[in-house]
Amino acid sequence: MDGPSGTGKSTVARGLARTLGAGYLDTGAMYRVVTLAVLRAGVDPADGAAVLRVAEAVDLGIGTDPAESEVRLDGEAVDGEIRGREVTGAVSAVSAVAGVRELLVALQRRIISQSRATLGGIVVEGRDIGTVVAPDAPLKVYLTASADARAARRADQDAAEGRESTVDTTRADVERRDHFDSTRTVSPLRPAVDAVEVDTTDLDIDGVLEQLLAIVRERGLVGSAEVGRVEP
Ligand code: C5P
Repeated sequence: MDGPSGTGKSTVARGLARTLGAGYLDTGAMYRVVTLAVLRAGVDPADGAAVLRVAEAVDLGIGTDPAESEVRLDGEAVDGEIRGREVTGAVSAVSAVAGVRELLVALQRRIISQSRATLGGIVVEGRDIGTVVAPDAPLKVYLTASADARAARRADQDAAEGRESTVDTTRADVERRDHFDSTRTVSPLRPAVDAVEVDTTDLDIDGVLEQLLAIVRERGLVGSAEVGRVEP
């Protein structure tokens, strides 16, 4: 599941994984952990070679349970810190470093195979999942929403989690990050040619989930063991 920020990706991906009894992987959190390590090391996020050295040494822990977020740096829980302004401001520069992407994509593919073996499937969210990380995925989803809707959702999320922001500053941040993510040379944000595109501007989370579950069923992606767990 790919798309820019504020489209409801995380909530939808998590909800879909829970409903299907599948794993869940937040790849944005992985880029955020590396960014936190870069900032803690006092390294300039624009210095690609130094950023890569930090990434190579990073001890990153990420859970795949959709019911519980687990993100660690050197064993320390950093779920809150990676969503703060400093990391958010630097993550696009860090994620544009080709070597960082190679390291994280390899790790993401290992986590995906493990979850497929143990749980039968996984919902993975990010920017390049359908195009680079899992080009053979049986369902690729690309979520979009208007810039206003995305800024409003991000501002609500910041307020709910106790971070100070306004719709205007959030809108500027969302637009800056999306522009950077879509125009970078390595794995730019774009829909895979065979992705199902869903515009979430006027849909609530349940509406998006309903649409996606219908496609999951149509494609026969729910095994007999999981059928009972899929809510209508
Ligand atoms: O999804 P989230 O907003 O947490 O992602 C943070 C940043 O990580 C994005 O703005 C993007 O720069 C980067 N990212 C990426 N590729 C992914 C996931 C996230 O480049 N698969």
